Amino acid sequence: MNVNEIMNALEAKHPGEKEYLQAVHEVLESVHEVYNESPQYQDAKIIERIVEPDRILTFKVPWKDDKGEVQVNLGYRIQFNGAIGPYKGGLRFHPSVNLSILKFLGFEQIFKNALTTLPMGGGKGGSDFNPKGKSDAEIMHFCQSFMLELWSLIGPDTDVPAGDIGVGGREIGYLYGMYKKLAKEHTGVLTGKGNNWGGSLMRPEATGYGNVYFAQEMLATKGESFKGKTVAVSGFGNVAWGAAEKATQLGAKVVSISGPDGYIHIPDGLTKDMIDYLLELRASNNDIAAPFAEEYPDESTFYPGKKPWELKVDIALPCATQNELNGKDAQMLVDNGCMLVGEGANMPSTEEAIDIFHKNKILFSPGKASNAGGVATSGLEMSQNSLRYSWTAEEVDNKLHRIMKDIHDACVKYGTEADGYVNYVKGANIAGFVKVADAMLDQGII
Ligand code: NDP
Repeated sequence: MNVNEIMNALEAKHPGEKEYLQAVHEVLESVHEVYNESPQYQDAKIIERIVEPDRILTFKVPWKDDKGEVQVNLGYRIQFNGAIGPYKGGLRFHPSVNLSILKFLGFEQIFKNALTTLPMGGGKGGSDFNPKGKSDAEIMHFCQSFMLELWSLIGPDTDVPAGDIGVGGREIGYLYGMYKKLAKEHTGVLTGKGNNWGGSLMRPEATGYGNVYFAQEMLATKGESFKGKTVAVSGFGNVAWGAAEKATQLGAKVVSISGPDGYIHIPDGLTKDMIDYLLELRASNNDIAAPFAEEYPDESTFYPGKKPWELKVDIALPCATQNELNGKDAQMLVDNGCMLVGEGANMPSTEEAIDIFHKNKILFSPGKASNAGGVATSGLEMSQNSLRYSWTAEEVDNKLHRIMKDIHDACVKYGTEADGYVNYVKGANIAGFVKVADAMLDQGII
């Protein structure tokens, strides 16, 4: 395989889909050696097949706002690759959502899901609907209209959506309610459900906790731990919240959170009270960074329009969104002595930033490995639904912990370089790719 030739052909076929092309390029760069040594992969054209989704559904989502005005959004579901299990991946509601972003997320999801050790294929979906500033009723009407179109494509053994940016427990509730009404069955068709109607304990915190468990494993390879470290976290959504809470429990000081409007520096670290207040702000559907700094004027400072990567920290956990950490940010982190960057978000670091982390041999984990705890726990929710049973929080947490360790081991197995440095990007991409490619070989040309 010649990576450049394949990329040129893809660019010609999908012009302008920059996030999707970026994600494909990163994977192909990692797997080309393995691929070129495997004539059976080449004969079956695994690369040409794996980079294209199995199918894409696009649809319009009409709904009425509180003033009675009709609004129209776009909806999507991408079923990317089903070689190792039912399609699985979140729904994102955000005005930036387009096909390129969802294709990048769906493509990444294939390898992430393979890494979890659970049988789940890759998918993703969402809408350009903006939940910010919307009332509960508006969110419900939108979710119901969205599901009216989506429901016939999904099912507990077919395609199991979950949350992502802009889709939390409330949205999953409204989506599930409508699915149940249309399908007339109570099945595990969505994950992230409420605990008293089929959800799994620990699902809300699983992505952030998993990210910290993965970072713990990386630190252990250097004889280090979270205790006494300063940590910069970006965002304050589902992922950032869990990561901040777990890092704090392990004795670290979380000195930042952020939003699209800027970041907050909390030099003495987040406290439990602050985390509770942040969760309240989050539930209000509005920006959180500036109002938080107003509530805690002595303990925190708000830096509008800036990112937390300019802080001097030991550990950085980007947990907000794609491409939020560029080459300049990466250089600042390295120059300030940062020893570990653990991606909680999907593709938050640009390719240039990743090159800088690798060149400086700092510990760096790609989201598809270190944020896989979310989808892994969704997989555990599916298992519990099939069993008609619920595990305790401790049981789920133990399984999550074990899965994150296994993912770390797989990355070390495939990503250790001649000098002993572990390239977790390469390790994760190869481990995920080989599993899916072998399944595709077994199942023939379909
Ligand atoms: P949420 O919507 O819960 O949170 C996203 C957070 O990031 C919000 O605090 C948001 O602020 C903030 N944010 C958005 N854009 C920016 C920006 N440009 N700069 C700084 N902050 C920003 O989403 P999740 O926590 O669920 O998802 C975060 C990331 O993690 C995404 O990349 C997602 O794909 C990934 N992920 C999520 C999983 C999950 O289980 N939820 C699983 C695996 C990956 P505001 O609300 O003010 O807009």
